Amino acid sequence: MAQYTQRPMRFPENIFQTIFEQLLPTGCIVCQKFQKYSICNYCLDIVSNEGIFNYQSCDQCGLALRPEEMALQCCASCQLSNPYFDETYCLDRYTGILQVPLHEFKYQKRIAFGCALSDVWNKLLSWQLKDIDASYLLPVPLSTQKLAQRGFNQSWEIAKRIHCGRHIQKSPYMLWRHHYSEHQAGSNLENRYLSTRGMFYVQPKHIEQLQNKTVIVFDDVMTSGATLNEIARILKDNGVSRVINWVLLRAVRPI
Ligand SMILES: [Zn+2]
Ligand SMILES: [Zn+2]
Repeated sequence: MAQYTQRPMRFPENIFQTIFEQLLPTGCIVCQKFQKYSICNYCLDIVSNEGIFNYQSCDQCGLALRPEEMALQCCASCQLSNPYFDETYCLDRYTGILQVPLHEFKYQKRIAFGCALSDVWNKLLSWQLKDIDASYLLPVPLSTQKLAQRGFNQSWEIAKRIHCGRHIQKSPYMLWRHHYSEHQAGSNLENRYLSTRGMFYVQPKHIEQLQNKTVIVFDDVMTSGATLNEIARILKDNGVSRVINWVLLRAVRPI
């Protein structure tokens, strides 16, 4: 059985979680088996062994590399059209066992699933990223209308519970999103790039803070990369020097 790093819990947010874990059995977010933790060791092992973070991935966009791409550590797509973001770290593939828990969290509003997904990230990936040199961690924003509709921003709910170096400041207020009625689902790659154009903006009072800084952007799902690319473009337009993506689930190749 693999051993997972358990970092010190923060008071008081997690003290209740600790108490409940001791007192009550809980269902694993993947297999629903009742046990002590939000994800059982069996399911955690599956992500640990098969998670996309284990694979040789494109440094820039996080896609698992094909053999012919390994020498450059860069996928064919990034070689062809260099994205604005500089690095991408992903936990697992979109088609892996965390997809259903993410949907339960996002669409059925089961907040405990979001906490559990942060736990999985913390157990498997946080230790690898703890020394990363960055100043801010920003979630991909929802528009105000979408936020009102859903009641929470799934990326922020996960990101705020992720363990990272104390030098990194988390904020859901720096980056904002306009509301557009067009939906991304079903549109082709070119349309996705066009539909994300101009969708995001930096809150003016925060622009100065971002000058020459490295910023991490957290997204729950990365598919074509169009959204994260547009965010990186806007951040760099506003003086950010480097943009790193942290992604929970990554589509294996652009749809
Ligand atoms: Zn399980
Ligand atoms: Zn790439």
